[in-house]
Amino acid sequence: MGLEDIRQKVARAEAEAGRAPGSVTLIAVSKVQPLERVEAVLQAGQRVFGENKVQEAQGKWPDFKDRFSGVELHLVGPLQSNKTRPAVELFDAIHSVDRVKLARRLADLAQERGQSPDLFIQVNTGEEPQKAGVLPADVDALVAECRSLDLPVNGLMCIPPVEETPGLHFALLAKIAERNGLSGLSMGMSADFEQAIAFGATHVRVGSAIFGARDHG
Ligand SMILES: *Cc1c(COP(=O)(O)O)cnc(C)c1O
Repeated sequence: MGLEDIRQKVARAEAEAGRAPGSVTLIAVSKVQPLERVEAVLQAGQRVFGENKVQEAQGKWPDFKDRFSGVELHLVGPLQSNKTRPAVELFDAIHSVDRVKLARRLADLAQERGQSPDLFIQVNTGEEPQKAGVLPADVDALVAECRSLDLPVNGLMCIPPVEETPGLHFALLAKIAERNGLSGLSMGMSADFEQAIAFGATHVRVGSAIFGARDHG
């Protein structure tokens, strides 16, 4: 299990970037992993986890939340509008807000429940046609819309194109966040989380480097 190694690397990257110790939240992305591996990471003290599908998370996390206190769950995958209610009931944070319709649905549920998960707006920094996320040119308008709906926007999230240098995308995300007065930056995965921290990541989403390779997904 790579948890201790990754924790140390996060701490070292924080120090090298002149960031305060503990300023980066390590999200252990447990999608598709066998339950024994997830349980081992819980036993080792990790409490912040990420999943990319609402239904998959519903299958394992209610039980883990009963057995381990203080679990914080982040949805890092796309959110269909018809899954919004179960998503806000299970997740403490949603990293994939990328359209006005979804923001309105989240705002209705926040009204009804008197609370909302922390929200990140996903930005398609590579402008890839098949990828989720709002285009860089449309971020400011979506942030403004969320604010007018009284939604708690924590920051921005991106998944850089696989064949490109991630640093350019991390820098772009940081720039868009800054001009919108947002402090949260959800960026960096197993292959590039240290670089993301150097560019200001506040949340890194690390899966296979903690749990081992996934069979699929
Ligand atoms: C799976 C996934 C991750 C983690 O990926 P690894 O390369 O295994 O670290 C991070 N972010 C999102 C959105 C994911 O779907």
